[in-house]
Amino acid sequence: MSCASTARKQYIALKAAGVCVRCKVEKAREGRTECEQCSKDHRKIRNQSYAENKPEDLCNSCRRNKPTPGMKMCASCRILGAAAARKRAEKKKAGK
Ligand SMILES: [Zn+2]
Ligand SMILES: [Zn+2]
Repeated sequence: MSCASTARKQYIALKAAGVCVRCKVEKAREGRTECEQCSKDHRKIRNQSYAENKPEDLCNSCRRNKPTPGMKMCASCRILGAAAARKRAEKKKAGK
């Protein structure tokens, strides 16, 4: 008997007993194979790997520079954007 089928058997046994198949300690959630804590950890890991695997992080505007952390645009584009917005606002004011 190989190790894999032993693990599989344990998985089935844990699942049947309503015990978390990850930590093998806590009770699994209703209709799930993992307990609350383990399913949370799982999600965290998945989110992390998603962040790491996402396509190259580039500024939405110039597509050349790295964006400021937490922002969609790089610092220089944000400064340019802010300057343009200010100009527009001034024009609007002057026009009225
Ligand atoms: Zn668990
Ligand atoms: Zn940029």
